Amino acid sequence: MTPQRKKLIVGNWKMNLSVNEASLYLHKLADRIPVRRNVEVVLAPTLLALQPLSLQVNRRQFKLAVQNFYWRDNGAFTGEVSAYQLQSIVQYAIIGHSERRYKFHETEKDIRNKVQAAVRNRIQPILCVGETVSERSMGETNDAIRDQLISGLANLTSDDLDMLVVAYEPVWAIGTGDNAKPSDVTDAVKVIRNQIKQLYGAKASEMVRVLYGGSVTPSSAADYLAVKGVDGLLIGGASLDSHDFTEIVTKAHNSNAVKI
Ligand code: PEP
Repeated sequence: MTPQRKKLIVGNWKMNLSVNEASLYLHKLADRIPVRRNVEVVLAPTLLALQPLSLQVNRRQFKLAVQNFYWRDNGAFTGEVSAYQLQSIVQYAIIGHSERRYKFHETEKDIRNKVQAAVRNRIQPILCVGETVSERSMGETNDAIRDQLISGLANLTSDDLDMLVVAYEPVWAIGTGDNAKPSDVTDAVKVIRNQIKQLYGAKASEMVRVLYGGSVTPSSAADYLAVKGVDGLLIGGASLDSHDFTEIVTKAHNSNAVKI
């Protein structure tokens, strides 16, 4: 029997909101977004707010994600925070986000070590992959996605795959308002699932949840959620507006049963 994958909506707040503002915003979302059995909602606030929000949050309603961490568990790494230190606070970790890859020059080695560190500490990695505008214009989208997957997953075994989430995030679509066409997403998701199948087999490729992210708004959310093989969305800008984010979660709740 093919597995039923629960839908997943992730709000990436990036470097926005103070600790107090984040707490107030969580209150607001908690009033608006009911617990739904078919949708998991994950919030990724600034690192500073994670600890207080982990005490405030109803974990049936929202899970928490860290936006970044260092891959060693402990040691002389001044200023860093590890997955080991985060394990009782977050359930997910965003890894390989294009802002980390391109603004902070994170390497493929950093990314695969982080994926492994997250799994080692029972935190679910959300591995972001996606092509740049120049890779897209040179027709290298599929190769870019495959290369990032092969490299990012290199330290995982098939036993770890039940924890994995992959987000297809074309770099040119993030924060630009220039979003991918649903047909582009269909193609990318096929590439992602085929690559996982090649690496870990058919069962793993059906089990892994795949998200789309890139300038999603309440009006475009349903089109992406309807794409075959898409299990949810990674939302940046629109996750900071309580109306928009609530509407996107509602769209996920109302979208048809997950299409394998
Ligand atoms: C993101 O930060 O992952 C993202 C998709 O941002 P936005 O929705 O603003 O494009």
